[in-house]
Amino acid sequence: MFEDVILIKPGEIVLKGLNKGKFVALLCKNIKEKLKSLGEFPLLESDSTFVVRANQKHSDLDGALELVKNVFGISKLGKAKLCNKDLDTIKSCCLQLIKESKSFNSFKVEAKRIDKKFVPCSAELCPQIGEFILQNVKGVRVDVHNPDLTLKVEIRRDGAYIYVSEIRGLGGMPVGCCGRGNVLISGGIDSPVAAYMLAKRGLNLSYTHFESPPYTSELARKKVVELFRKLTKYCGQAVLHTVEFTYIQERIKKLCPEKLFTIIMRRFMLRIATQIAFENDEGALITGESLGQVASQTLEAITCTGEVCTLPVFRPLIGMDKSEIIEIARKIGTFETSILPYEDCCTIFVPNFPKTNPQIREIKEAEASLHGVLLDESGSILENTYSIKTEEVIE
Ligand code: ATP
Ligand code: MG
Repeated sequence: MFEDVILIKPGEIVLKGLNKGKFVALLCKNIKEKLKSLGEFPLLESDSTFVVRANQKHSDLDGALELVKNVFGISKLGKAKLCNKDLDTIKSCCLQLIKESKSFNSFKVEAKRIDKKFVPCSAELCPQIGEFILQNVKGVRVDVHNPDLTLKVEIRRDGAYIYVSEIRGLGGMPVGCCGRGNVLISGGIDSPVAAYMLAKRGLNLSYTHFESPPYTSELARKKVVELFRKLTKYCGQAVLHTVEFTYIQERIKKLCPEKLFTIIMRRFMLRIATQIAFENDEGALITGESLGQVASQTLEAITCTGEVCTLPVFRPLIGMDKSEIIEIARKIGTFETSILPYEDCCTIFVPNFPKTNPQIREIKEAEASLHGVLLDESGSILENTYSIKTEEVIE
């Protein structure tokens, strides 16, 4: 008689103006995509809210809720009961939900009428439902200030939705609504968090990782693949490009001043990532840099690395402390993988005294000796790139 559904309330996209429909359609597509692994779930839109229905009795709505809560663009979601919009049905639905709810002494009713034609109005509906519950459930009382349980009743055009709990979504914007970007992913703690943060703002991501075998191992590569797999939960399907960087690093080590090694290496990473981004129609690069974290992330160092880029470089962690970054890494489940102790290409050939205030002029002078490995001259670096898709790492 009452149907169990999931009620999903979009986040800031509801504030969009004339092109709101575009954002709503994308969120709807992302939710459907997310649910695919659990089977077919009809998805309806009801007054700027989404409703996931179970198409069969055994459809796993709890499982669906677990998946949908990781979709960006949602402010709140939870299980609800859907019933017809007549007062008696609403009252019995409320009663059933109250009876299913465990261990509470006090309650309050909150009603909202999205369908303004419905009578009675919200202010009259709350006491009527409250009264009905008091008559039918022993030992409970109304407490409008500090209730153990809040029964929410939303009268929408297509029916009445009744629920007692909802969870906070991740917020943000639907992935894909703000274009495409390429994350430089290192295997450390920061870059997966940077990826998460920009997917949250609607960027569709792919990833580029630089490795330097034999200095970096197969295990180090597997660690990055594992991070890539874990990010799928939030960021969606993607491609991970792995670039063999050994030759470039060896050339830099041999031909450039040691103190500039890391900055010059970073400039090459950004040059190559820019080329990969262009080839894949991506409009931004993303890094996990944080101001002052290490010598290569001083203002002068970031100026020197960013100088080679013709695309915007997004650094969402720039103003964050490591402890704040770790908190997010733990929350999104990448931390444990990130701290596995395998070497990254950044941790080989590290200078003893890196220059913290490099100047572009000296960097360019040093790079002149690298003539043969510059991307635009050699054009061969990307031959050492290979890509894997998310489907290849998900069972
Ligand atoms: P992370 O920043 O991911 O925790 P990290 O702190 O060891 O790793 P840094 O030396 O801080 O890395 O590097 C700064 C940024 O440069 C990284 O966040 C990442 O965006 C990029 N980067 C570093 N190493 C690599 C790599 N091997 N492949 C791709 N990008 C890299
Ligand atoms: Mg870092």
